[in-house]
Order: sequence, then structure tokens, then C-alpha cells
Amino acid sequence: MSLAKDAAIFLAGHRGLVGSAILRLLEARGYQNIITRSRDQLDLANQASVRDFFELERPAYVILAAARVGGIEANRTRPAEFISENLAIQGNVIDQAYRSGVKKLLFLGSSCIYPRLAAQPIREEALLSGPLEPTNEAYALAKIAGLKMCAAYRQQYGFDAISLMPTNLYGPGDNFDLESSHVIPALMRKAHEAKKSGAASLTVWGSGRPRREFLHVDDLASACLFAMDHYDEGSPMNVGTGQDLSIKQLAEAICHVVGFNGNLTWDDSMPDGTPRKLLDISRMSGLGWQASISLEEGLKSTYQWYLDNQT
Ligand code: GDP
Repeated sequence: MSLAKDAAIFLAGHRGLVGSAILRLLEARGYQNIITRSRDQLDLANQASVRDFFELERPAYVILAAARVGGIEANRTRPAEFISENLAIQGNVIDQAYRSGVKKLLFLGSSCIYPRLAAQPIREEALLSGPLEPTNEAYALAKIAGLKMCAAYRQQYGFDAISLMPTNLYGPGDNFDLESSHVIPALMRKAHEAKKSGAASLTVWGSGRPRREFLHVDDLASACLFAMDHYDEGSPMNVGTGQDLSIKQLAEAICHVVGFNGNLTWDDSMPDGTPRKLLDISRMSGLGWQASISLEEGLKSTYQWYLDNQT
């Protein structure tokens, strides 16, 4: 099945990193009936507002890219907001989408749903096979509830809800706030500011040893539209590049792109998080999808976006 160009698609979270990438792609592919709402127009955590919205708009498809997200420090220090806001948003949207007769819904999770010490690369079957990483347990539990809610609605009601589990994301539109951001925008900004001020070094959190896999949001957007057309099972499906690198290697690559030639210093009072997060992407590649933006290319274009958009 392929999404018709005039299908009414509700894209929740269209201003975020993921949602804005999906919006760009939907527009570039000529979709004409994309429904969006800003947070001021529709509070997705409010059940009555979400019900009224679905009753009025009656979208045929839903892409749920709205979520409270953040980097390791935001997750560690604000777990209550991460669990409560995500449970509310996804609970309201998934339930009301089903009740109003939506044909298909896509839910986006995260690779942090898998156990902290899952065998690498992480297969979808590793879900709920061991304890979670404590620094983002609240967020991970909310995302696990979301994907299980999709599976339960499929099982009991026959609702075509699918879940994708992307690896760490980055790209244009990312959050560059040093307290709450993920590692790529944080290090890009630190390297940029160090270069500008002529600093001798920049500080990287943790030991530099953890390994992470990074996917450009434009690749994720393409994976989302691919999955809307080609995937209709209850179990979640991983989305990544199949390649990881250490935080030290990443920091060096970012300094290179930014043109900062000083030293790296390590702040070991900050947490490392999960030692390694590399997804097994064989399910998605078996269906015929793969990422196309290399990390080097993606870092360069993201830095250019930062230069063009920093305030
Ligand atoms: P995670 O994948 O959930 O751990 O999310 P992050 O992107 O926030 O962090 C990834 C890794 O990068 C962790 O090991 C962090 O300690 C490390 N890291 C190094 N420097 C920074 C930084 O300035 N900001 C963030 N967010 N992480 C950093």
C-alpha cells in the first residue's frame, strides 16, 4: 500500500527535530493534505483537546513525532517530565486516532528502550530482556509503554499502528542548548565557541569511551515514509545506519568539521550512560530501506545549518 498524495496526514510534532524533517520530506514528495498544529493550538497532553481535534479533523493517517526529548543530563535530572509528558501525549494520540477511525499510525520510540547491556548489535527481540540504563529509564519506560500500546491496539482492535525505534538522531533543527541537548549539537556548539574565542581546549562529558550510532533526521524521515508504505506488524522495527563510533572519535570528527584545532579535555564527573548502543538493522534492510547520509556529510550540513540559524 502506498500513501496517496491527497491523504489527510496528521503530523504531530512538526516543529521538532524529527517532525520538521518529516514535514520537509512530505512537502518535497508532493503531499497536499498535511495537518499540523503548534503546541499553542493543540496541547497533545490534554485528552479532551486531542479528542476534539480528531473528531473535527478526522485524519486518515497519523505520524506521531511529538515527544519530550533531551540529552543525557536532561533525562537524568528531569525524569518526571520525561515520563509524564510522553505517556500523556502518546496515550491520547494513539487512543483517539484509533477511536476516530485512523487507517494507520506511526509511533516513534528510541534505541534507549533496550536493556543497558543488550548484546550488540541490538536486535528487536532484546526488548524487556534486562534492566534499562538508569540515566534515561523514565523516558525509555514511556516509549516502551507507547510501542506496547500500539501492539495491544493492533492485537485487540486490529488497529494498524506501527513503531520504529531510531538510533541517536541529529540534523538541522536540533536543540543546541548545552544543558538539554544531545551530544552532537552540544559538541558542535562547544567547538564553534572555542574556535571563536581562541580557547585552547573544549570539555567533553564522560570518558569518551561510550559508543553510539548516529542517524541523520532526513534519513529517519525517509525511513518513516518507507515504513508507512511497507510495514504493518506489531513488533517495533529498528532504524539506524549499522555503524557506530566512540564519543572520542565523534568529538574529533566534530572538531574537524568546525575547524577547531585545540585539545579535548574530559569531564568525568558527567555520566557516560550506556556503554554501547548499536542497532541491528537487518529487519529494516531486509524490507529494502537503508540510510544514505554519511556521518561526515551530515555533520557538515548540520554545522552549516547551525551557522545559518544560531541566534
Ligand atoms: P545518550 O545516547 O542517551 O547517552 O545521549 P547523549 O547524546 O546526551 O550522550 C551521548 C554520550 O555523549 C554520553 O556518553 C555523554 O556523556 C557524551 N557526551 C560528551 N559530551 C557531551 C555533551 O556536551 N553533551 C551531551 N549531551 N553528551 C555528551
